[in-house]
Amino acid sequence: MNVGLKTQILPAGEAAVAAAARVLADGGLVAFPTETVYGLGADAANPAAIARLYQAKGRPAFNPLIAHVGDIAAARQIARFDAPAMALAEAFWPGPLTLVLPKMPDCTVADLATAGLDTVAIRIPAHPVARQILREFGGPVVAPSANLSGHVSPTTAAHVQSDLSGRIDLIVDGGAVEVGVESTIVGCFDAPMLLRPGGVPRGD
Ligand code: AMP
Ligand code: MG
Repeated sequence: MNVGLKTQILPAGEAAVAAAARVLADGGLVAFPTETVYGLGADAANPAAIARLYQAKGRPAFNPLIAHVGDIAAARQIARFDAPAMALAEAFWPGPLTLVLPKMPDCTVADLATAGLDTVAIRIPAHPVARQILREFGGPVVAPSANLSGHVSPTTAAHVQSDLSGRIDLIVDGGAVEVGVESTIVGCFDAPMLLRPGGVPRGD
């Protein structure tokens, strides 16, 4: 099903980054490369944008999203880090590690993005295009894989286009991504706990 949007595709660069930030600020959906897979970004603080994201992917809204931020200071505004969480963040960010942490009381990430939980999943991506978009937009961006729910995660812009053309506003084409595996997820509560294996080798 095509929801009738015209999906623009722009090569990564200054104009594409500016357009991506504008789409996010307007509550739209933009696909961009991360070092794991292509992500589908929406403003994490905008419930209407997040509702559109779940709909575009056909993803059930009880499956919470990862908030992507540009730096540790931004991460600490939305979640509470204990010492082990800080050590993990410092060791692996930016990179393919997601931490699940207790939400701060004034966390701006919408309840719809965290499926109403009192925890929030966060990561700082390493891909330069993802980092530029986060810096230009200036707030947390939820970014699940840019594919229809249940399909293989996309590693190229063409792959995103074949799943989501007509359902999202913009695709930023930054070429093929390197890892093609989702981020490793670690829950940081009483003691760090591996929730999903992924792009960080288990031995690390
Ligand atoms: P993805 O499907 O790659 O976007 O990764 C999102 C996954 O992160 C979800 O399917 C959950 O498994 C996990 N996740 C996100 N937020 C939370 C949370 N607050 N608590 C536990 N797991 C979470
Ligand atoms: Mg996925």
